Amino acid sequence: MNLNQTLLNRSLKSVWHPCTQMKQHETYPLIPIKRGDGVWLYDAEGTRYLDAVSSWWVNLFGHNNPRIKDAIKLQLDTLEHVMLAGFTHEPVVELSEKLGKLTGLGHAFYASDGASATEIALKMSFHYWRNSGKPHKTKFISLQNSYHGETLGALGVTDVAIFKDTYAPLLMQSAQMPSPDFRLSEASESAEAFALRCADALALYVSEHHATLAAFIVEPLIQCAAGMGMYHPAYLCRAREICSQYDVHLIADEIAVGFGRTGSMFACEQAGITPDFICLSKGITGGYLPLSAVLTTDKVYQAFYDDSTLKGFLHSHSYTGNPLACSAALATLAIFEADNVIESNQAKSAYLGSQMRALANLPIEHVRQQGMILAFDVKSKNAKFSRDCYSAALKQGLLLRPIGNTVYFMPPYTITEPEMDLMMQATLLAIQNSL
Ligand SMILES: *Cc1c(COP(=O)(O)O)cnc(C)c1O
Repeated sequence: MNLNQTLLNRSLKSVWHPCTQMKQHETYPLIPIKRGDGVWLYDAEGTRYLDAVSSWWVNLFGHNNPRIKDAIKLQLDTLEHVMLAGFTHEPVVELSEKLGKLTGLGHAFYASDGASATEIALKMSFHYWRNSGKPHKTKFISLQNSYHGETLGALGVTDVAIFKDTYAPLLMQSAQMPSPDFRLSEASESAEAFALRCADALALYVSEHHATLAAFIVEPLIQCAAGMGMYHPAYLCRAREICSQYDVHLIADEIAVGFGRTGSMFACEQAGITPDFICLSKGITGGYLPLSAVLTTDKVYQAFYDDSTLKGFLHSHSYTGNPLACSAALATLAIFEADNVIESNQAKSAYLGSQMRALANLPIEHVRQQGMILAFDVKSKNAKFSRDCYSAALKQGLLLRPIGNTVYFMPPYTITEPEMDLMMQATLLAIQNSL
């Protein structure tokens, strides 16, 4: 038995892997990864895989990034962790100041995962209305096909059947608004016209239910987990107006799209709006350590600021504001500044889009791109397309993880043009072998 085989057998005996029917590993083997470097992941025997999905959308500047690694090492010699209740430290203060400047919001509240950030935003919004003499505003709305995480509260506003249906009896009720995902439009309609038609439906619902609504939570510009469903920013402009008009919070879940993915630092910038809450995670540490944050307005913060303890936001996680994670986030933000990443990604994103021509003869539709995310849908009758394509891509040295029939690229920003060419060639073969 080789080294890979031994490790994966031990893993199957001892580890319950996420988002997985474990029995499927009888036919689809686990891939034991030994080390990473740049866009590449290596197994124990030296076989390498190009990480075209940034390890579930978290990695921004490649594996084994010297600048992020050094920042964590430096912090490791100073302070690994201290509780954030009653204490503070330099990395959390500096990160909060920086995130405040970037988002136009403030009062950063920290947790470790995206779903926890969703929970925090929902609880803060609800509690804000309670503190403000509007205790009837308790309900949340989200988009059809939305994804906001899988803890019970976050799952309550998520609308992906395979994650949600089993747990439905445990979840709070929320209503879903028509999704502006352009794939759902009429053939004759422009993306903008469709976005505005969906926003009209939102306006109607909110006008009728605002008395009981706390917040509308939305993934700005791209519903990633729904298969990279992209939509026109006009939807967000209207959503902001509607929420302001009817006194309903707008929560921007930028967990997947924040930190440059869509071509701007945050997706909301492309609609010129500021939400009442922004949820951040995934790329925030460059993919190094778990960290999430929620930032909000002074107005929300002030509603909690009181002599009464119970009016305060009594929510916490053990690792809130962990200094190591904050130092990784600061190093990540420093790379954005030093390398002028948002600007230099423009050429990269254009090259990525142009390489779609390598796939032009495949049966595909809805080719779409927003910054460093490129996606298309494959017209295949193979009911197991996504798993077969995933396996076929691995055989070509490529980590692709199609969502249903949607194949997408969301590579680290450090990917080079020759690496993008390799990615396209491997994708071509993988799709041809799994149609
Ligand atoms: C991944 C994701 C989450 C959940 O984050 P976790 O860290 O996986 O809990 C929430 N919202 C969006 C938009 C996401 O992409």
